[in-house]
Amino acid sequence: MPHPHSIAHLPLQTRFGTLPDRFFSNVPPTPLAAPHLVAWNSELAAELGLMADASRHQHLADYLVGNLLPAGSKPIASVYCGHQFGVYVPQLGDGRAILIAETPDVHGAVQEIQLKGAGPTPYSRRADGRAVLRSSIREYLCSEAMHGLGIPTTRALGIAGSPQPVWRETMETAAVVTRVAPTFVRFGSFEYFFYQGEHELLKTVADWVIEHFYPACRDAANPYQALLESVIARTAQLIAQWQAVGFCHGVMNSDNMSILGLTLDYGPFGFLDGFDAGHICNHSDDTGRYAYNQQPQIGLFNLQCLAQALLPLLERDAAIAALHGYQSIFEQAFSEQIRRKMGLITWQEADWTLFTELLELMQAARTDWTRFWRALCDFDTSDHLRDDFLDRDAFDRWADLYHARLAQENRPPEERGVAMKAANPKYILRNHLAENAIRAAQAGDFSEIERLQRCLMRPFDDAPEFDAYAALPPSWASELSVSCSS
Ligand code: AMP
Ligand code: MG
Repeated sequence: MPHPHSIAHLPLQTRFGTLPDRFFSNVPPTPLAAPHLVAWNSELAAELGLMADASRHQHLADYLVGNLLPAGSKPIASVYCGHQFGVYVPQLGDGRAILIAETPDVHGAVQEIQLKGAGPTPYSRRADGRAVLRSSIREYLCSEAMHGLGIPTTRALGIAGSPQPVWRETMETAAVVTRVAPTFVRFGSFEYFFYQGEHELLKTVADWVIEHFYPACRDAANPYQALLESVIARTAQLIAQWQAVGFCHGVMNSDNMSILGLTLDYGPFGFLDGFDAGHICNHSDDTGRYAYNQQPQIGLFNLQCLAQALLPLLERDAAIAALHGYQSIFEQAFSEQIRRKMGLITWQEADWTLFTELLELMQAARTDWTRFWRALCDFDTSDHLRDDFLDRDAFDRWADLYHARLAQENRPPEERGVAMKAANPKYILRNHLAENAIRAAQAGDFSEIERLQRCLMRPFDDAPEFDAYAALPPSWASELSVSCSS
């Protein structure tokens, strides 16, 4: 492991920065007054070879807001476009995120480090380039919660806040969240050069992505077709994981879809509390375009946008054939998730029926998604599962079928319970938990962020000290409204 270093002396490499000038603008962060540290992810810091102990970093908050930069840093904001709520938008880009470093982690993999909320860029359009403390805390906590759940995601290294006012629905204060990922390239990065008619540059970004992230595609008859197929597979697998854990992204625009199949751009996301297939987590989503049960097909829509953008590089029929593969990859990945959640060793076609019958019962009662699955891990010893259903006799009938199904596999109940607890998390980032951490932070107490993060990074472990985080949401949680405002 390399010697731990400070942010000031971060070892830099240029990888995204080797792309032609058309891919980005050189733009420094805009200074923020009187920054202070709000959160520091010492686990991720250690993975980056950074000193884990925040107190040993000099001027850490100044680095995290971009007032100071690592020696040799050439900050940049990248250009992309995308389909927002299904509508093509010709020019987007990092309107408030600035890439300040590309650095090897302790495993030798290069990671991009971005400051989100670091001030305006040429892609800010009419917006202020800032992010508020509230949304920065949500992004920070959810990135690490998803990582803890084993779901591919961008990471978050820290948050720094400032008293500088930022106007949203009300006056709030500014913050910057430090994001980390192998790359932040999105579907929209490809769409941009396609719609600009700059097909040479489209090829450049495709070659760059293949070289660094999909090297196996180089050997395919058509590397770009292989790339599309790989991204389709990763996206289908990602969304299967979202569905299984009850995660709703909230703004699945094609510019928020990672080319690596990572969960990207945390805004008005939410986890299911009581099960409702049509749950809409984003208050700004009037039509429910991004409702929970729409996510798999929206994934396909976004992949169609990507495929369209790749057409100059591959045969149309091949692109269509690749897209036709999405549904079965998704179903395969999702059934694998549900198999594990149900504690089954094998998956049979009839298990779909068992699962969908359960969903109907849950829908009718708005049974809590996370708590029910966790309770099901103790199926053999629990008498209370039926209490969470409106039609308890119907649940008993379902339980008999489930019991019979389990009996076919002859797996010792204790062994099944252990396996199920590794598939059914006890803790998720419910809106009200984030809200409690936000309210405390707005009052100057950051300890709740740290405590909640510690719990969420090990969501499958039974941790009695965190029992309250696994409780049903309080009544005030239903009043919380999360929108695109961030
Ligand atoms: P989103 O859908 O929230 O990921 O954002 C859509 C686009 O708006 C992206 O290009 C963002 O960079 C940009 N954007 C969002 N909020 C701001 C802001 N406060 N200032 C500048 N650009 C922003
Ligand atoms: Mg975005």
